Amino acid sequence: MKALITGITGQDGYFLAKLLLSKNYEVYGIARRKSNMSLGTLDCDETLKRSVNILWGDVLDNPFIESTIKQVKPDEVYHLAAQSFVGYSFENPEVTYDVNIKGTLHVLNSIKDYSKSTRLYNATTSEMFGKPQVTPQNEKTPFFPRSPYAISKLAAYWTVADYREAYGMFAVNGILFNHESEVRGPEFVTKKISLGVAKIYHGSHDPIVLGNLDAKKDWGYARDYVEAMWMMLQQDKPDDYVIGTGEQHTVREFVEEAFKVIGMTIRWKGEGVNEVGVSEDGRVLVKVDLRLFRPLESDNYMADYTKARIKLGWEPAVKFKELVKIMVEHDIKNLSQNHCFKRY
Ligand code: NDP
Ligand code: GDP
Repeated sequence: MKALITGITGQDGYFLAKLLLSKNYEVYGIARRKSNMSLGTLDCDETLKRSVNILWGDVLDNPFIESTIKQVKPDEVYHLAAQSFVGYSFENPEVTYDVNIKGTLHVLNSIKDYSKSTRLYNATTSEMFGKPQVTPQNEKTPFFPRSPYAISKLAAYWTVADYREAYGMFAVNGILFNHESEVRGPEFVTKKISLGVAKIYHGSHDPIVLGNLDAKKDWGYARDYVEAMWMMLQQDKPDDYVIGTGEQHTVREFVEEAFKVIGMTIRWKGEGVNEVGVSEDGRVLVKVDLRLFRPLESDNYMADYTKARIKLGWEPAVKFKELVKIMVEHDIKNLSQNHCFKRY
């Protein structure tokens, strides 16, 4: 079997490439040139890097996507490439719309025109629920997007659904809730916290500076979530699935749990932007900065993944506490060994 992954240099690309190689797939990945030829998350795993076929290009380049699909004729395409950071999407909506909508359209059209039997996984997100009207959220929950990122992903979601119906394509949308890991980008809150705690463990006196501590999310482990992506493409019929853990936690709880991993207890003092998290001996470990709040918040997330459990047989193996432990312990080790993950 041949698989093509767009966004292979990101978090999910890393875990998905590993998973597919373990299943003996021939793996192709699209990577774009930045100011150098770095391969993001793949750069720290020489074996993985050597095992995938890298095609240099951009999902915004339609002729490149067309020729890639024509040439590779993959059995499966995992379309992960995106401007994936919600915060950045408020500052740069246009690039977010371009990459996330046009990029998806290029992939869909190329499959439709040149490789109709290719199965497509499209990466969508719980952010499409935005301000959820009900909790927990499942495939029937109304969408209410609250950021340029969420709007772009919703457009991509409907485009995939339309192509599936109009042209009989095997194309699915994974509605994935937040998932994190050792190789999560450093701009995301979980990584900011795990890395900040690891630095404090190693003697740093810098507090971790955060925005909204009360945002409620459903955080899972990326390695579990890429399995769900693969499972979606092994079904008899294409369909959309919600993937999450069914647990809800706040950013505040993530902070508390992360400090517990290094044996520290956080106490909260003050309110709003003056709130701080202090250690038992009164040291300020966490601060709040108004600039890190978003113009609109999307939260109160909790996945109802019943459909995935029943139809795919999928369950998350790692839940909140273990996820926090994995991330903090990894960062402690990584910092001390000066390991090479360049995303820090
Ligand atoms: P990352 O941000 O880690 O990875 C995004 C990938 O897309 C990177 O490889 C990036 O390349 C690539 N990319 C961005 N723009 C382009 C472009 N124009 N052409 C080609 N490649 C491009 O995201 P994740 O791995 O965390 O997420 C994977 C997908 O799942 C994304 O679509 C994301 O929106 C979605 N998603 C993620 C969730 C999560 O919690 N992680 C939750 C729900 C959905 P480069 O390295 O060059 O920047
Ligand atoms: P997102 O759900 O894809 O936006 O993932 P993030 O990790 O970026 O954000 C998760 C939640 O954490 C959001 O509700 C943010 O408002 C909140 N948050 C609080 N402080 C921070 C911070 O310093 N950085 C980020 N990225 N998010 C923060």
